[in-house]
Amino acid sequence: MTTTDCLFCKIVAGDIPATKVHETETTLAFRDIHPKAAVHVLVIPKQHYADVVALTKADPALAGAVLAAASEVAEAEGLLDNGFRIIFNTGPYSGQEVFHVHAHVLGGEPLGPMIA
Ligand code: 5GP
Ligand code: ZN
Repeated sequence: MTTTDCLFCKIVAGDIPATKVHETETTLAFRDIHPKAAVHVLVIPKQHYADVVALTKADPALAGAVLAAASEVAEAEGLLDNGFRIIFNTGPYSGQEVFHVHAHVLGGEPLGPMIA
């Protein structure tokens, strides 16, 4: 997978539309196209890394920026009082489908068991 055929790189470039909810110099957050909860936002680094392990090894400060952005999204979406999840699917067993690292921010309703 190169950045030219990566779906989320195309969203960063503006070539594919997305409902953006948060942006910094290095990160972007947008609503998931098939939401699995009342609030379902994806938070990505603008730079392409396949998964959270690659990101954290290459640029731990950027990994921190993704987590900071996810926390700010959770607060802006009103998720702090009742709680929420931040999930990084990583590799085949997780069901990861898009190989541009993304944090799922899920909340806004009871989420049920973590593995379902
Ligand atoms: P993964 O399974 O890789 O952790 O999650 C990929 C997520 O990206 C899925 O929840 C899926 O609904 C979402 N997704 C796939 N294509 C698009 C798209 O074109 N736009 C947006 N906003 N989300 C997408
Ligand atoms: Zn990408």
